[in-house]
Amino acid sequence: MNKKLSVLGSTGSIGTQSLEICEKHGMEIVALAAHSSVELLEEQVRKFSPKYVCIYREDKYAELKQRLSDTSAQVLCGMEGLCRIAELEENDIVLNSVVGMVGLLPTLTAINAGKDIALANKETLVAGGELVMKLAAEKGVKIYPIDSEHSAVFQCLQGNKRSQLKNMILTASGGPFYGYTYDQLKNVTKAQALHHPNWEMGNKITIDSATLMNKGLEFIEAKWLFDLRPDQIQIVVHPQSVIHSAVEFNDNAVIAQLGVPDMKIPIQYALLYPERVECPTKRLSLTDYGTLTFGKPDLETFKCLSTAIKAIERGGAYPCLVNSANEEAVGAFLRDEIEFIQIGEIVSSVLDKFPAAEIRNYDDVMEADKKARDHVRSLVG
Ligand code: MG
Repeated sequence: MNKKLSVLGSTGSIGTQSLEICEKHGMEIVALAAHSSVELLEEQVRKFSPKYVCIYREDKYAELKQRLSDTSAQVLCGMEGLCRIAELEENDIVLNSVVGMVGLLPTLTAINAGKDIALANKETLVAGGELVMKLAAEKGVKIYPIDSEHSAVFQCLQGNKRSQLKNMILTASGGPFYGYTYDQLKNVTKAQALHHPNWEMGNKITIDSATLMNKGLEFIEAKWLFDLRPDQIQIVVHPQSVIHSAVEFNDNAVIAQLGVPDMKIPIQYALLYPERVECPTKRLSLTDYGTLTFGKPDLETFKCLSTAIKAIERGGAYPCLVNSANEEAVGAFLRDEIEFIQIGEIVSSVLDKFPAAEIRNYDDVMEADKKARDHVRSLVG
């Protein structure tokens, strides 16, 4: 339990909950990195005394350095700082919870340095799944999933043979607009989209949950993490978010992982694996729920989800193109530049716009990323 940890994305929702877990179990923090929240990052540095701290936004570097001038923390910035932290000799494990595909290079850097990863940055696997999994296998690095669905599958596989896994059941809450028709989706507001019924999360993932893109990204993430074919992953809408996902083995036995919808459970399992110790969450009371329900996802109405599935079926650069188009479209929606319904239209347009291309290396990922973002900006601007 005395693993040494660096946290990339320490001021976000997953980052702050992770630090709560670290504090409870006395884990040593080697380094902290945040996007732009200088004030909270300063507070975290004073509490956890990491040796290194990084602010991604370079224009915030001077302010952070000034605020921490009376501490011994070495202050870094930008992508270079993130990667420097990812490969620190002192790390036993690197928790990556940055938002978006910015997380890919730090993940690859940590793996190259032989550091295990606790992965909450799903875009890393969506955009560069093939590269990440290949490099991890080469370096003998373990990737512990923090996404609740993938943690559930990881937990269900314990003590079973991966080779005897037949199918994965990926549960989805359905988000705030479950059951809506296409016409109803035309009128939803930003405030409605930012209000998730079960989970409290950052803005990007909350919008992704409302469009069901989050489930699409998780579908792709699952394919890479557990080496599944797309036809082995079945999405089931389960509005109560009690069953976090399930696996079906060759004998048709299904094993599921259940719990209250609280990210601290998967975070703690990833950080303390294989230990199961007290976790600061509520306990599950099935009788309080009474009824658990299940339904099929509406792939016609929720275009982001069907687009993500098509993208991984086609393979190559398509998942990366779809992910980057989505990041741009969600950004535009959060800035009130487009309507909710346009996110799905924009994201699905990349399937027709771009011919098939291979992903052989990091530069190929960056090229696909740029193409998709330029395309979306031309549509939005
Ligand atoms: Mg999830």
